[in-house]
Amino acid sequence: MGCELCNILAGESKAVIIHEDDRAVIAVRDHVLTPGQITVFPREHAPILEMVSEDVLSHCAVLANKVSIAVFECLGAKGTNILVRNGLGAGQNIPHFGIEVIPRQDNDGLNLQWEPKQLSEDELDRTFVLLKDEFAALQGQTEKPTTAEKTVEPKEVVSEPKEEKISGKEKPNYLLKSLKKIP
Ligand SMILES: [Zn+2]
Repeated sequence: MGCELCNILAGESKAVIIHEDDRAVIAVRDHVLTPGQITVFPREHAPILEMVSEDVLSHCAVLANKVSIAVFECLGAKGTNILVRNGLGAGQNIPHFGIEVIPRQDNDGLNLQWEPKQLSEDELDRTFVLLKDEFAALQGQTEKPTTAEKTVEPKEVVSEPKEEKISGKEKPNYLLKSLKKIP
């Protein structure tokens, strides 16, 4: 399989998964811009933003916000860049939509020119250990089991199945065509 994010789900990657559910995954990848960078992505392969259902996109955005909060708390970030690289022209280098949460520090030297560096296993482990519990704690405050009997939770919205999907074959798209150039 050639998709890095699908490979994470398949267990064919060094990346570690902090959280996964029926719609989305949060992972610490080993090839990132700065230690602590987290990727939130739909479980179902979707090359570009517009192919992600509103329900899944909303879910990903909520997760990205929680990851950002966790990063402030446990990594002492001074800010976060929350980034979507949508299409080859925007620097997208994985043909699977994702939201990147990038912790910022004073004078971190990050110029956002998209020059990834290889993390050591120690850095990867540290990020994983610190974030896993922090995120789980935040997640536990709001998430309810989806298969359990119905509980009264006014803020929980049950999403309806998406009846229609946008297919790249039906709708030729510059972003999709450009993504095919990714090795
Ligand atoms: Zn994929």
